Amino acid sequence: MKKAYLLVAMPFKNANRPIFQRGWGTSALEYDVVRYTVRVALRLSVDDSTVSVRDAARVLRFLRENPDYLVKVKKGMLYCGVCGRGPFTKRGLYLHLTRVHAEEIARAVRQAPESLRKL
Ligand SMILES: [Zn+2]
Repeated sequence: MKKAYLLVAMPFKNANRPIFQRGWGTSALEYDVVRYTVRVALRLSVDDSTVSVRDAARVLRFLRENPDYLVKVKKGMLYCGVCGRGPFTKRGLYLHLTRVHAEEIARAVRQAPESLRKL
């Protein structure tokens, strides 16, 4: 009962947060999705409460279908999958992707089809 309520409520969890434009044209909500996407791609710990269930499903599907989009690994070193810059440390690549490519990542994830399957 309680769990079902949570699942229904979660997609609207962020609805009350103010949506304002950041410098790079990404809204605060989208920036949460970008951060979540990059963290999952880099296998960093993620806070699922920062994105809706629907966005999380979209991100996971997007990363499954485009495994090299954000991160390329060459000889054990991390390179940016978008512009090829590197090598980076994990944290360095996280900062690079969220600062330089936030808009591209937001657009790519937004355009990815929503998962038809339940998580
Ligand atoms: Zn890059």
